[in-house]
Amino acid sequence: MLLEGGDVGDLCGLVFPGQTAGGTPTPAVVDDIDVLPYPARHLFDLSEYEFVTISATRGCPFNCVYCSLSETRFRCRSAESVVEEVRCVVKEFGVRSLDFIDDVFTFDRCFVEEFCGLLEDLGLGVSWACTTRADLVDEKLLKVMKDAGLRHISFGVESGVEEIRKAAGKDISNRRYLDLFGECRKLGIKTRAYGMFGLPGETLADMDETICFIRGLRPDSAIFRVVDLVPNTPLFDLALSEGLVGVGVWREYVLGSRKYPIHIPKVLTEKQIYETHNRAYHSFYGHHRFNKILSKIPHLLTR
Ligand code: SF4
Repeated sequence: MLLEGGDVGDLCGLVFPGQTAGGTPTPAVVDDIDVLPYPARHLFDLSEYEFVTISATRGCPFNCVYCSLSETRFRCRSAESVVEEVRCVVKEFGVRSLDFIDDVFTFDRCFVEEFCGLLEDLGLGVSWACTTRADLVDEKLLKVMKDAGLRHISFGVESGVEEIRKAAGKDISNRRYLDLFGECRKLGIKTRAYGMFGLPGETLADMDETICFIRGLRPDSAIFRVVDLVPNTPLFDLALSEGLVGVGVWREYVLGSRKYPIHIPKVLTEKQIYETHNRAYHSFYGHHRFNKILSKIPHLLTR
């Protein structure tokens, strides 16, 4: 539009310097996302990157209290459209590895099965990674995905305590996670677990349980985060209503007059949350290295 002489003020979703509120209108939600163009990948030197990202969906119908995608309309591209983009990326840029950046890649099981079938038929030999919820995939679907090149899958575990996870919007049992990570290991799919600290109702003992539980899942990697207070989420609204933060909290942070806004449960302090966050990394990756050394010992002993 700008190349054709249009006015920048006619573009949706912009806020201009000096504006404290408002901006141009919010962009309309696109229902048929197959019509959206591919990203302008030709503007980057993709040889510098180990993989290329692709998006197959928009939105998420679940309602995790901390998440900016909570209860946004889920839309999914057609399997043909996504496979065609994969084909183009491979043909034009010689890419061998892809990462789907969708948060609930397997929400539409029919899409995943069709996509995997088409990708396998094309025989491009690409490997790929995705992220999804533990209640949206089972061993049968994992096998279909693995046969189509899935090499890595990530799951949001969030907490090691079922009640805390459930209160945060993920009513998924610990048993389900244990089974799922085991199924991935059996199929040779690498895994990542995400954990969070500062969830509603959490205590120090709960956070310790999260570290323990995630270690026990034996994922290939783990990422731990502190719960941010993201605007327009149920958690942010709750913090506002309880007077814990004001509407201008992020503006104050950007202007340097307050610390980074995180959610601090009543019985915890900010210091305890950040210390646990650090401890989680030390515990997981220290333990991980130890396990790798241990795995070599039987071999050494039987030589
Ligand atoms: S955390 Fe994941 S499952 Fe929950 S609302 Fe956000 S995208 Fe959806």
